[in-house]
Amino acid sequence: MLELHGNIWRTRCTGCGKVAIDHRAPLPEIPSRCPECGGLLRPDVVWLGESLPPGMLAATLENGAHLVEINPAKTPLSARAHEVIRAPATEALPRWWNDLNHSIRTTT
Ligand SMILES: [Zn+2]
Repeated sequence: MLELHGNIWRTRCTGCGKVAIDHRAPLPEIPSRCPECGGLLRPDVVWLGESLPPGMLAATLENGAHLVEINPAKTPLSARAHEVIRAPATEALPRWWNDLNHSIRTTT
């Protein structure tokens, strides 16, 4: 599984771009600072309104990825998705994940 939207446990420095894993919770200081350059750290995720990393989607589709779009609204990527689920991710993702696991258990 490729995390197109990133991973909340990774940080990305807004100064030097360094990416690191950070499992600390709660964070000792907010906002957190980069140990390398002192720049502000942000979660290494794609927030609402931001674009996916350039070229990532095309590369994953060229390598045979099965694209599932979970979004209440149509997006520019809807036409390229193999599955489209029109619902909020908080509702649809657990149901989709359970269905996928059930499907894997019954076919193996
Ligand atoms: Zn930095």
